[in-house]
Amino acid sequence: MTANIPTVKLLINGQFVESKSTQWRPVVNPATQEVLARVPFATPDEINAAIASGKEAFKTWRKTAIGARARIFLKYQQLIRENMAELAAILTAEQGKTLPDAEGDVFRGLEVVEHAAGIGNLQLGELANNVAGGVDTYTLLQPLGVCAGITPFNFPAMIPLWMFPMAIATGNTFVLKPSEQDPMVTMRLCELALQAGIPPGVLNVVHGGEDAVNALCDHPDIKAISFVGSTKVGTHVYNRASLNGKRVQCMMGAKNHAIVMPDANKEQTLNAIAGAAFGAAGQRCMALSVVVLVGEARQWVDELTEKAKTLKVNAGTEKGTDVGPLVSCAARERVEGLIERGVAEGATLVLDGRQPQVPGYEQGNFVGPTIFNGVQPGMSIYDQEIFGPVLCLAGAATLDEAIELINRNPNGNGTAIFTQSGAAARKFQEDIDVGQIGINVPIPVPVPIFSFTGSRASKLGDLGPYGKQVVMFYTQTKTITSRWFDDSTVSQGVNTTISL
Ligand code: NAD
Repeated sequence: MTANIPTVKLLINGQFVESKSTQWRPVVNPATQEVLARVPFATPDEINAAIASGKEAFKTWRKTAIGARARIFLKYQQLIRENMAELAAILTAEQGKTLPDAEGDVFRGLEVVEHAAGIGNLQLGELANNVAGGVDTYTLLQPLGVCAGITPFNFPAMIPLWMFPMAIATGNTFVLKPSEQDPMVTMRLCELALQAGIPPGVLNVVHGGEDAVNALCDHPDIKAISFVGSTKVGTHVYNRASLNGKRVQCMMGAKNHAIVMPDANKEQTLNAIAGAAFGAAGQRCMALSVVVLVGEARQWVDELTEKAKTLKVNAGTEKGTDVGPLVSCAARERVEGLIERGVAEGATLVLDGRQPQVPGYEQGNFVGPTIFNGVQPGMSIYDQEIFGPVLCLAGAATLDEAIELINRNPNGNGTAIFTQSGAAARKFQEDIDVGQIGINVPIPVPVPIFSFTGSRASKLGDLGPYGKQVVMFYTQTKTITSRWFDDSTVSQGVNTTISL
């Protein structure tokens, strides 16, 4: 039965190897339910072998010249560009998002690869001359050793590329644990990375779920862990790996609110909201899932609903699709269950996207754009991250009231304001406690010269992925204070006091 289904390989010491595991799960096309591959849950021996290979490779990789490391990423970005269409097709098949959106997923990762190629400009120490007579102090930013990355299903290209290129470019070796739901595009990206010249052992991949993640959190040879995923799992990873003395950065769940002021450009704003709420079927960590309509903007619900109705729900491979399927049957059932609870808990269902007709894809995990009005804290659809194409509308009398609502929500991943008032925008950026802030920009994901961030329940650890911050995360600062004696130096004899 499973004989003809391809298997997803592990990557250990430069070789793509078949796992000896007895535990496997299918990788399923969410539009058709076709089983595309089987992915193993790696055994403890396999995980140990991946880490050991990273440890061995670190001995030489850490001393490889900056330019030699950087040139691999120059080659790598070229290979990703050349294979963009194939990468997007694999991604859409296993994850469901539309082909253009899949290309966007790869492209946003590609930008981090380009950034990694310029690492020599970022991994610079500092020097202070003559901190005392004849004494200089300077710093070295040295790689840590074997680092690990644990990634979610929703950006299977971009998020692995947030991690291993920056870790490896700064001189570390890496063990990646991709999402078990859609590991195939990640593996194709790893093949291209080896083709670009990443040496054996520098990049390793193990597959699995909870056990594999716990093994990485516990292993003494893993020095740092980057995690992106839900708040529940991220908090567990942060606590467990920190207790084991590792550096940890966790980018976690969200409930992203937008404020719409009555002076906003209505057409631009409603288009932006519909795209950000329903694009990728709402399965972006930066999706807008709550819109707070301020004052007169509360009258815009019908027009927003009309826009949402125009979006086409279909398989991601079909031309003109706006909203693809959810990643799994379980995800569809969960989202449908939350819609049911929204109705039961008293919100007004102004657009019901449940069970849309999608000819040719009757088995797909589709939920169409769904809008609730009159949503309040305490309702499950407000308190939980739905991670589906469900938009909650709430009202506020003033900007202050809207800001207060957002700051009371435990999550602080992304937010946006739509307004033509500079004063309102400035007040918003000053007072809001959220990591990514958009001003008339619905999904303000920072480009790699900055770093991704997050507040409160959306992030643990102080340094973000990519950008300057991740260079600090993936390196240990050594501070060296040096004095050189020459023949003219007069001996001061023994001094037992701390010098003033
Ligand atoms: P998830 O937390 O279920 O899974 C993330 C990773 O953790 C996967 O590799 C998975 O195998 C592993 N995992 C799952 N259960 C585990 C357990 N019990 N113990 C240890 N490891 C476990 O997340 P997901 O459903 O794949 O992704 C969606 C979530 O990710 C959403 O909450 C979304 O907001 C969040 N996300 C956040 C960002 C960000 O930058 N803040 C970006 C993308 C996604």
